[in-house]
Amino acid sequence: MSLLLPVAAASGYLAGRRGSEKSSGQRVTRLTSSYFRGLNYLLNEQPDKAIELFLQIAEPDSDTLETQLALGNLFRRRGEVDRAIRLHQNLFTRPLLSAEQRSLALVELGEDYLRAGLLDRAEALYKDLLQVDGQQAIALRQLIEIYQQEQDWESAIAAAEQLCESGDCTNTALVAQFRCELADQALESGDHERARAHLQSALNDHPECIRAELQLGNIELEQQRWAQAARHYERVAKLDPDYVSEIVRPMLTSLDALGDQKRARRLMTELTERERGSASLLGLVHLVEQGDGRQAAVELLAERLHERPSVRGVRRLLDLSFAPDDDRESVALVRDILDKLLQREPTYRCGRCGFRPRALYWHCPSCRSWGTVKPIHGLVGD
Ligand SMILES: [Zn+2]
Repeated sequence: MSLLLPVAAASGYLAGRRGSEKSSGQRVTRLTSSYFRGLNYLLNEQPDKAIELFLQIAEPDSDTLETQLALGNLFRRRGEVDRAIRLHQNLFTRPLLSAEQRSLALVELGEDYLRAGLLDRAEALYKDLLQVDGQQAIALRQLIEIYQQEQDWESAIAAAEQLCESGDCTNTALVAQFRCELADQALESGDHERARAHLQSALNDHPECIRAELQLGNIELEQQRWAQAARHYERVAKLDPDYVSEIVRPMLTSLDALGDQKRARRLMTELTERERGSASLLGLVHLVEQGDGRQAAVELLAERLHERPSVRGVRRLLDLSFAPDDDRESVALVRDILDKLLQREPTYRCGRCGFRPRALYWHCPSCRSWGTVKPIHGLVGD
């Protein structure tokens, strides 16, 4: 209902406006502009209800630029991208557009192209806009978006660096992700040194880049540089304990190769205090089993499972308590049920959109956010 009020008020306003346009032209333009901007916000909330009413009042008043822009925006929002593109292109045929008005129309047209998936056209248009004073920042932000969609990471980094030079350096975490993408490409072609260089640059841009630390750890592990690998994994755990499940195994492998059981136990013990999942506990149980024997491992695990139950922990307890070849029906049945439970559950979840993939994505396939997918914790999680 609240939508009807401003719309009704505007109808009356527009009807009355035609008589007094000459005397207060300045004021009228300002009011119209703020009115339609306000209406745009309403449309964002409840587009379907507002659309028809808006069209009724907007179309007769088609001569102001603000109205045209609001209308074009509306078409796009409604999925009528072709119509929005035609409208915004027609604006350019008007003889008396100021440079600022032309830029406004360009930005809208760029949005249309993006929505229509016409990335080449959007890219060309925003490159033109780069030449217009005062429009560089918006053009660069849109170009960064386009290059991401095109997976053109080099260009995305260059655009972000240019944006930073003009004063907006808020994209460092994003740039680090782009560098990690380049590192992935280098690894795929077997170029470890190039990958390593990209990852180091990522950390220079954004020292808290978990992905770069993890990838560096994996490269060092593969090249059997155990001490360096362990350092990167330790750093991952320090930056965000939610990723501990990603590093426990490779970290124990590295420390085992170094023969440093003492450090391994100390790290795992520390991590059990900070981690919400059970990966570090299972790592610690593994070390206790090796060092102090199976009974000590069972006691430790059983005690901790009371405090924080987990299916993964119970599954491990089963293995510790019964020999792997124990084929009694009841043991096999419980083992089977627990395995199925663990297999069926997704292991990761995007904190932004809730998407639950079975692998760790750094770029959420659903909402396209970076670094929001994490391991799931809790009863059936890691
Ligand atoms: Zn997501």
